[in-house]
Amino acid sequence: YNSEHDVDSRLSLLHELTVADHLAVSVSVSESCSVYDAAVTMFLEDTGTLFVVNDGRLVGVLSRKDLLKVTLGGGDTKAMPVTLAMTRVPHIVTITPEASLYDAAVLMVRHEVDALPVVKNDDTGTGFAVVGRVSKTTITRAFVELGQRYTV
Ligand code: ADP
Repeated sequence: YNSEHDVDSRLSLLHELTVADHLAVSVSVSESCSVYDAAVTMFLEDTGTLFVVNDGRLVGVLSRKDLLKVTLGGGDTKAMPVTLAMTRVPHIVTITPEASLYDAAVLMVRHEVDALPVVKNDDTGTGFAVVGRVSKTTITRAFVELGQRYTV
């Protein structure tokens, strides 16, 4: 049996996992992308969240339900820009590479979102440069890795 101390020290490891070490590749589309093309990208790239960027800077986030909602309204999705459907900066919850994966999970739970853009705050003050993504899948993977490392 493990002593309670062992269990505590193992669990404290949870806070040492960093976002940087668990970065997933982010899939981005430009502001001028159509709702139709965004949906195709979502399928092809097998992702549930797209980041909308302008000149490498984050301007919005597009989820599956955002696309579903705008599509249900009818209309020509090839003529609709994603900007119509996305959630915009400054309403986007982001995280930095230095943060812990635990902090990312807390934010996703608190804000009820499936993914966070991992961003570097640029010095020029012109916005966030996206360097990657963390999602609920990222957290699940890390959880499984921890479980495999510490099988009793
Ligand atoms: P879905 O809507 O497909 O279940 P989410 O739960 O991630 O996916 O998204 C819910 C809403 O929150 C959507 O309108 C989406 O644009 C928005 N959203 C997604 N990610 C973020 C984020 N990191 N910060 C702020 N809003 C987000």
